[in-house]
Amino acid sequence: MSNYCPDCGCKVYNGHCVNCHEETYIAQQNADNDEPCAMSKEFWDKVAKQQIEAHERRQGYLRS
Ligand SMILES: [Zn+2]
Repeated sequence: MSNYCPDCGCKVYNGHCVNCHEETYIAQQNADNDEPCAMSKEFWDKVAKQQIEAHERRQGYLRS
């Protein structure tokens, strides 16, 4: 599995690019906080899309 995003070259953690999947990354950081902030519905919509995208990327990496 590549550690760098094929789209932008940023670091990738477990299929998540810190740039393309910024909301997912923020959500993970936030979940690690002692007192997580409330996020908007739009934010979680983006996170849900990015989860699917990251999953597809992981599948793609496995094939290549
Ligand atoms: Zn990227």
